[in-house]
Amino acid sequence: MQVLLLDIEGTTTSISFVYDVLFPYARGILEAALEDEGLLAARWTEPAYASAIATMMGSSPDSASEAALFALDLMDRDVKDTGLKLLQGLLWEGGYSDGTLRGHLFPDVAPALARAHAQGIRIAIYSSGSVAAQRLIFGFSVAGDLTPLIEAYFDTTTGPKRVASSYVAIAEALGVEAAAITFCTDHPDEARAALDAGCAVRVAVRPGNAALPEGHTFTTFTSLDEVLASLPRAERHLLSEMT
Ligand SMILES: [Mg+2]
Repeated sequence: MQVLLLDIEGTTTSISFVYDVLFPYARGILEAALEDEGLLAARWTEPAYASAIATMMGSSPDSASEAALFALDLMDRDVKDTGLKLLQGLLWEGGYSDGTLRGHLFPDVAPALARAHAQGIRIAIYSSGSVAAQRLIFGFSVAGDLTPLIEAYFDTTTGPKRVASSYVAIAEALGVEAAAITFCTDHPDEARAALDAGCAVRVAVRPGNAALPEGHTFTTFTSLDEVLASLPRAERHLLSEMT
């Protein structure tokens, strides 16, 4: 059974969606909370928000603005903090569910995932964004709710994306050999790590991505159609099971 394991930023989704849409959206809500206005100011004492804030700060704040100031400081310093990610996920959830945000996908992604799913190819996501944020992008995407097509989501709680053992752990979690996984990413270091783990790898060339290093030997793609065309067909597996 083949598994298509997909990175998000720079692979299914433009990098600018995350940096020019999602992060500014969260920042706007945090800045409003400094003035005791907006979503966070209204909801910061609700359990999910309070828990994310306590994880982020290590204690409970006295006001929404105190939490917002703390979060803005982490964002300014680009600190990868689990509590901040949880809080951002909650802020984005608000934006997705009220229709302000739609998860960007390159035009080939939704049709390709539907076709892969119909062919019996298993689909999973591996992104440094939290699993909650991943589900939101695909659940409220420009192409509608794609979550029924996606079997599993992995984030950095499984391990860093540039370390081979993370891909071994994902293969184990999915109950397959690493060789059954085709990992699609835009990042050469992630690609190398997955290759080291024994996965097949395809490197995304998408609008807005950084140029790949000169002389690289990765197999690249500009559309997931090319990736699917290169996978062993699921029918072959069905036939071999029948004989
Ligand atoms: Mg990426």
